[in-house]
Amino acid sequence: MSRVLNFSAGPSALPEWVLKKAAEEMLDYNGSGQSVMEMSHRSPVYASIINDCEERLRRVLSIPENYDVLFLQGGASLQFCMVPMNLMNKSGKADYIITGQWANKAYKEGVRFGECKVLANSNDKTYSYIPKVDSKEFTPDADYLHICYNNTIYGTHYPYIPETGDVPLVADMSSCILSEKIDVSKFGLIYAGAQKNMGPAGLTVVIVRKDLVGNAKENTPTMLDYKTHADNGSMFNTPPTYAIYICGLVLRWIEEVVGGIDKMEEYNKKKAAVLYNYLDESKMFKATVEGEDRSLMNVPFVTGDEALDKKFIAEAKAAGLVNLAGHRSVGGMRASIYNAMTIEGVETLVEFMKKFEKDNAR
Ligand SMILES: *Cc1c(COP(=O)(O)O)cnc(C)c1O
Repeated sequence: MSRVLNFSAGPSALPEWVLKKAAEEMLDYNGSGQSVMEMSHRSPVYASIINDCEERLRRVLSIPENYDVLFLQGGASLQFCMVPMNLMNKSGKADYIITGQWANKAYKEGVRFGECKVLANSNDKTYSYIPKVDSKEFTPDADYLHICYNNTIYGTHYPYIPETGDVPLVADMSSCILSEKIDVSKFGLIYAGAQKNMGPAGLTVVIVRKDLVGNAKENTPTMLDYKTHADNGSMFNTPPTYAIYICGLVLRWIEEVVGGIDKMEEYNKKKAAVLYNYLDESKMFKATVEGEDRSLMNVPFVTGDEALDKKFIAEAKAAGLVNLAGHRSVGGMRASIYNAMTIEGVETLVEFMKKFEKDNAR
């Protein structure tokens, strides 16, 4: 068996420890005589799986008691409308900071439900930075302020948390959740599609302050009301049972193998530095994001020559380094180095880049 080094932005690599554990338990989970995929979600054995997943997530991220954890479907993209449907219920206003395509898609859904103000938009420089926004610009009676904390396509990450006072801060953390410590209490709501750093596609995790649940706009469909899921322990209907099980294993890996979120963050910083340090000294490859706005998870880079970029991506693929093409909207390269990517994997990439640079020097 030979496994590739997978730099996919999502769905993305999972820790081998997790995949092996899942394989071991595939036919018979914990003496139940069935696969997790075959179980009733109402069975006691499955209850222990979903409860364990939630407890681990609460421990790993130190989620305060006054927050609900919801296991939903529909992807991060469904949250683009669920957030306004549930939260835009007092002034009918919301603020958005646009730092890329996902933030923009969230904004476009927001305007369908109320008055949305764009506080800043970094599209003037192809979303290569995080704008600094003065809190004087914030709408004082906004129902929330929405940010995309880590911009998967452009490789930027907020170096600060906007101080919104009483206005709930809503963050799309799809591509950075579980990569670093976060102070959940600074946010009203955090959401993330699982397929980048938490598990397989099909699961979306929402962490929401309890006082923000239960005031959805009139006519909000039952399935799109956070209260439905909060009141039913994410079991109003069939939850994505297998994805939740794998997410639980990822959390167990973080706790028992990595040693917790602090260790995870430390590891990710070391790992990203291996690549950024090389990019900063290379004469051929250049990172497209500078300084404190750089993401630890998604690292875009270019040679400045499209044909050379293509050659690099093709040769890397042939060498077992796959999914290094940048997002179709921006081109160039992007190495997504989520939690499951090892430092050794990134070192292999850097060695490959060094050799490519030498072989193609002009
Ligand atoms: C991938 C991604 C999304 C979209 O996620 P889906 O689960 O496919 O809807 C949204 N936001 C960010 C930041 C992402 O990285």
